[in-house]
Amino acid sequence: MTIVHGGLAVAATSAISIDNAHAHGLHLVDAGTPAPTTLTGRLADFVANARFDRPTLVMDLDAVAERYRLLAAALNPAHIHYAVKANPAPQLLARLAAEGSNFDVASRGEIEQCLALGIPAARLSYGNTIKRRADIAFAAAAGVTMFAFDSEAELTKLADVAPNTTVYCRVLVDGTGAEWPLGKKFGCADQMAEELLVRAVELGFQRPGISFHVGSQQTDLGAWDRCFARARALIDRLAARGVDIGLINLGGGFPSTMTRSKAQEPRVYAETVRAHALRHFGDLDVHMIAEPGRGLVADAGCIVCEVVLVSEKGDGDDRRWVYLDIGKFSGLAETMDEAIRYNFETPDNGGPEGPVVIAGPSCDSADVMYEKNAYSLPVSLQEGDRVLILATGAYTTTYSSVGFNGFPPLDAVCL
Ligand SMILES: *Cc1c(COP(=O)(O)O)cnc(C)c1O
Repeated sequence: MTIVHGGLAVAATSAISIDNAHAHGLHLVDAGTPAPTTLTGRLADFVANARFDRPTLVMDLDAVAERYRLLAAALNPAHIHYAVKANPAPQLLARLAAEGSNFDVASRGEIEQCLALGIPAARLSYGNTIKRRADIAFAAAAGVTMFAFDSEAELTKLADVAPNTTVYCRVLVDGTGAEWPLGKKFGCADQMAEELLVRAVELGFQRPGISFHVGSQQTDLGAWDRCFARARALIDRLAARGVDIGLINLGGGFPSTMTRSKAQEPRVYAETVRAHALRHFGDLDVHMIAEPGRGLVADAGCIVCEVVLVSEKGDGDDRRWVYLDIGKFSGLAETMDEAIRYNFETPDNGGPEGPVVIAGPSCDSADVMYEKNAYSLPVSLQEGDRVLILATGAYTTTYSSVGFNGFPPLDAVCL
């Protein structure tokens, strides 16, 4: 038995997969679509043999590496720039770097973290379109050569403090089909992008690029196709004005396949996106990159937490309330509006299940994860029972840094 505390743990060895999980007393709860809820062998084995003193994310770095190889091969010739914000665990970044990944960073802090791990600045793209001027200067001095923008003001900043680099303009995408759409915060309309890219060349930037993001946890493959068609039209209009596009950034959006959304296998997304990209851009001499975050790491992680309380309201609602020791403010922020619907595993006594509301422990009434979606858990579930939350390797530790209401930030262990 390993007792895990503060990220100290040793990796387990033998393999158990969830295919034979029932033999190990685990029970997959899925009242919705029959999602392929398979935990990788190392994760299941480690978790079964460890005790945790607080909610903890366990990451299987072998699974991350395997997914990296799959995406890198299937998206080739596009180069992978892992979106660091999805999960910045140093061991994970180091593993991806060793696999040959590049990295998309959003802040000085993320750049410093990559550099501290020995990742060359030439392998970083600064993909945030909202950057402090001083941070752009820092990045440029460190040797970062790829910078995003979506406005004239940001482009001007780049011309001032990061000349002779490759800049790329992010275009607006509506995010239809994405369970975590990125809304209107990033990107500009195609017409404005055209003018800004003309302006970029006037400012001395050579062979600038175009980027977009189809929205996170995007399950509709048509979203990429529609984006690519728009980008190609933009590239052709720019060519007519003498602007040569040298970079196309396909963005992220590749879905986790282990939540309750109807996502297909990762290979299907990668190969179809590549086919779309080659159809629209195959005749161009461009450098292509993709920036998966969630699609690389979500399925390789599992949160171990426990039941704090099971209660009823006595108001005629027959649903039990299951309060976990983790909630919206300690790692599960993406349950906001029940956008990302995780699958849960609980101890199985072979008994019946009943409908539940699943909530966090904090004193905020918004800290309810699932109330509208029909979740069902064993009737026997009780205080102290361990609960596994699958496919939580992305956007959990990063959203859990403050310790709201005195609950500890989500702990993490990398195997
Ligand atoms: C967050 C982010 C990504 C990663 O998105 P996923 O949906 O997790 O793949 C990629 N590119 C940029 C610029 C981002 O901000």
